[in-house]
Amino acid sequence: MSKLSVIVPCYNEEAAAGRFLQETGRVLEQMTMEEERKKRELSYEILFVDDGSSDGTAEVLRKLAEENSRVRYVIFSRNFGKEAAMYAGLQEAEGDLCVIMDADLQHPPALLPEMYRRITEEGYDCCGGKRQGREGDGVVRKTLSEMFYRVYRGLTGMKTESGCGDFRMMKRTVADAILSMKEQNRYMKGIFSFVGFRTCWIPYENVERTAGVSKWSIRRLFRYAADGILAFSTLPLKTAGFLAAFLLLGGLLCLFPGKNLAVGIVLLAAGLQMGYLQILGSYLARDCMENRHRPVYIVREKG
Ligand code: UDP
Ligand code: MG
Repeated sequence: MSKLSVIVPCYNEEAAAGRFLQETGRVLEQMTMEEERKKRELSYEILFVDDGSSDGTAEVLRKLAEENSRVRYVIFSRNFGKEAAMYAGLQEAEGDLCVIMDADLQHPPALLPEMYRRITEEGYDCCGGKRQGREGDGVVRKTLSEMFYRVYRGLTGMKTESGCGDFRMMKRTVADAILSMKEQNRYMKGIFSFVGFRTCWIPYENVERTAGVSKWSIRRLFRYAADGILAFSTLPLKTAGFLAAFLLLGGLLCLFPGKNLAVGIVLLAAGLQMGYLQILGSYLARDCMENRHRPVYIVREKG
């Protein structure tokens, strides 16, 4: 008997939670019936995480859980952010498979059966939905997002792509690997790439939010982007080296007879300082990474 946990981070989703349960519940019921036909057993739970909503989300969740024994909920003491809500969900979930979904139905539940099939029958550890197009977003948002992914890949060497978000179904081993990343400042896309595992993608068309409003202002997105880079790249700390080399070279050239000796000395002094900044940066970068106590390796399977 396998169990699927559907984890749903909710921040001010009183208008969406009921609809979500209705639509997703229907798909999950179909999946359990399909499994029964194949002489296999599948059960599920829907785990809402109320991320400190200021509207009536908590009451709605209590009511949904009362009416439906498959529904459970966790209510945060304040807003900790979606990353924290996903972490809590994975920790609380009982399933041998977990899937993270947005409450606003922007992650189509219709994809769940195919995700499940890919993992249980094709041997993938993780299967994500890849959003195609983003009609709802303006040109500025779209361009900024594309720029971010390009810079991000360059800085971190990771293969994060636009459209590949948190909508992913995963085996327990993957969920546990994610939980073994103990950092406070959690950037889930980076964490997903860090832990590895065999992952496949199912494309889906971008859908508009069913109810309520998006919680992501441009400012919040910028902060999120900065978090992502700081969490997975120490390259910015180490850029002083290039400048140091440049300044030292310039300084040396100025020392040749007939050139400007004073400028040469100033450049050399600046270059030396820059060089020491590079050394400081390198130690700091190492300390930064060590302090996160990330796992040294992650096992996929043992015999
Ligand atoms: N969310 C959350 N905590 C937050 C912000 C958002 O749990 O601080 C949840 C939100 O309720 C939704 C999901 O994260 O289920 C995605 O948020 P949203 O739909 O606002 O983002 P968008 O789809 O606009 O990127
Ligand atoms: Mg949304």
